Amino acid sequence: MVRAVDAQDLLAVRIQAVQMNVFHLMQRPGSSTIQALGGLHQMAGWPRPIFTDSGGFQVYSLLRQNAKSGSITDRGAVFRPEGAERKFNLTPEKSVQLQLSYGSDVIICLDDCTHPEAPLAVQQESVERTILWAQRCRETFDQILAQRGVAAAERPLIMGVIQGGQSHELRRYCAEALLEIGFDAYGYGGWPLDGEGNLLEEMLAYTREVVPEHFPIHALGVGHPDNVAACVAMGYNIFDSTMPTRDARHGRLYAFTVDPAASQLNSNWFQYVYAGDKKHVKRNEPISPYCDCLLCHRYSLGYLHHLFKLNDSLFPRLATIHNLRFMTQLMANLRET
Ligand SMILES: [Zn+2]
Repeated sequence: MVRAVDAQDLLAVRIQAVQMNVFHLMQRPGSSTIQALGGLHQMAGWPRPIFTDSGGFQVYSLLRQNAKSGSITDRGAVFRPEGAERKFNLTPEKSVQLQLSYGSDVIICLDDCTHPEAPLAVQQESVERTILWAQRCRETFDQILAQRGVAAAERPLIMGVIQGGQSHELRRYCAEALLEIGFDAYGYGGWPLDGEGNLLEEMLAYTREVVPEHFPIHALGVGHPDNVAACVAMGYNIFDSTMPTRDARHGRLYAFTVDPAASQLNSNWFQYVYAGDKKHVKRNEPISPYCDCLLCHRYSLGYLHHLFKLNDSLFPRLATIHNLRFMTQLMANLRET
């Protein structure tokens, strides 16, 4: 689920939900194994909500790296990741079926992802296919729940993903079609950054505006602290990203420069602390005076540097716990101010 930490570590830093991915899960450990192990909640020991992503973005990334590793048609995606023994098929129907069989709480529709700088014709095709697939996802979702006899109040939620690249018309058209089909929540689909790595602020803000305010909206894949802050200001409520945990494992830690419980975050409110930096060898204080995580509560930056240099397996756990606590402190601050 999240590398290097377990469910207790996540609960301790007040993570509210986790997101897992069909693309990865269907390959490893594989759907029949997940079912044999009692579904995702039981397997991971995680009592709070689980979002499952449809795999659309991962298929897109795989094909972008190597066009020969698969193909996408209206029917769905066929792909064979490097090193895999067989091909995988991912249709809208199958994506929903798998997410429900894993025991997910929030199902995300399979979408046809594009690069924001792809030509308009490509964006158009992606939007049409995303709408077609969303319709089929919704139908499959309703059918399976009706067969299972799940009460309305107990059913999982389902999220539609809005594509359209950098075209206002296409973003609006896609959002309106998805609203017409009807979902519990919506997501901003496609890579959220431009070629220089800057957040596509204008398009994210526009997409939030075309979805009525009472619907929650997910900024899929947005995870840089500055970008999360910008998206919350636009009205986004849900985030998922591998960035804080990947940064942690690589020794890039986040630290507030002001108390997030007491201040509004204006400029320069956080900094990176590099665990491998020589200057920390004898630092006998925590990474951040404003953090209450296991690492900051118990250990010095000097000790963390030592663990990093040794490649000790305790390092990724402590670092991950810290960066995740930074993110939950950030969300608490942004929600209150
Ligand atoms: Zn900490």
